Amino acid sequence: MEAMRKYGKDDEFREPVLKCESCNKVVLLAVLKKIGMCPLCGNTKVRNVRTMTDEDQVTVERWIYEGKCDSAWLELFEPSEVNA
Ligand SMILES: [Zn+2]
Repeated sequence: MEAMRKYGKDDEFREPVLKCESCNKVVLLAVLKKIGMCPLCGNTKVRNVRTMTDEDQVTVERWIYEGKCDSAWLELFEPSEVNA
């Protein structure tokens, strides 16, 4: 189990996609590193994605289509009910 981490500019996030603490939208790590904030609301606090909404899923699928995100990452978030 992963220990709780404090947020900070120097945190090294391993995930290619993160979630904004303020607007709760998915944000690309590459964009975050480039502009230093959420491109949607300007917030600087992000966290690792644990759950994704349908909207997040659509956004990430678009990024994958555009080559901005690895499709293997999204597979981690396949809905559990599919396996039922
Ligand atoms: Zn935001």
